[in-house]
Amino acid sequence: MNSFAESPWRKNLYNIACLLFMAATLIVMSLSAGGWDITGSKGTHMRSELCDHKRDIPDGRTLFQQVCAAGGTERAFSGVHDRVDESNTSGTYRCACCGEPLFPAVAKFHSGSGWPSFTAPVANALGYRKDILQFGSTEVHCAACGAHLGHVFDDGPPATGLRFCINSVCLWRDDGSSSVATDQIPWILNAYLVLLVLFGFCASCCVLTKSAVIAAYPYYVKKRGQHNSGG
Ligand SMILES: [Zn+2]
Repeated sequence: MNSFAESPWRKNLYNIACLLFMAATLIVMSLSAGGWDITGSKGTHMRSELCDHKRDIPDGRTLFQQVCAAGGTERAFSGVHDRVDESNTSGTYRCACCGEPLFPAVAKFHSGSGWPSFTAPVANALGYRKDILQFGSTEVHCAACGAHLGHVFDDGPPATGLRFCINSVCLWRDDGSSSVATDQIPWILNAYLVLLVLFGFCASCCVLTKSAVIAAYPYYVKKRGQHNSGG
C-alpha cells in the first residue's frame, strides 16, 4: 500500500497550493507602494485649511475641487502644464493647494498621455494609496496636505522606469526655486500583474469551492437518505 498516495497531504496538495498562492498574493500586494486599500477612500483627504486660497489656479478653481479635493481626473490634453515647453528644465512643480515642492522640472518628460508626466518626485513629497477597485493602480497624493495628484505606473523611461501621471490642475510651476529628485524610488506593483494575480485568485477560489462541494456531497446524500427513510 502506497502510504503517500493515501496521505491527507497528497489528497489536499491542490488546496494547500491554492492557499499558499493566495497568501503570497496578499503579501506581494501589501509590499507594493501604498499597500492595499479596499475601502476606496481615494482622494478624500485634502486638508483644505492648508491651501493657499489666494493663489491663482489657471485650470480653474472648480476643476481644482473636483480633481485635487475629490479625487477626480481632468480631461486629457487639457491642462496648462501638459502643454508646457519641456526643454525649460529649471524650476519646481509645487502642490497647487499647499505649495510644497513635488517634482523638479528636470524630471518632467513628454509621455504623450495627455497629463504632465514625471520620472521621480522630490524626497518624501508624495504619499501612495492603492485601490483594488481600480485594478491595483497606485494613487499619488501630496504628503503634506493630502491633495489627490494622479497615479504612478511602472512604464516610465529607463532612469527610474516610473511614470508619475499627474493632473495639471494640482500643480503650479515655481520658476524661482530648484529641487532635486529622490533616488529612493518606491516599488510599484505592475497593474497587469495585479490583473493576472486576481484571475489566479478567483480560479483558486473556484477550485477550493469545487473541492468543498465534492467533499460534502457524501454527507449530503447520507443526510438526505436518513431524511427520506424517516419521513
Ligand atoms: Zn499639498
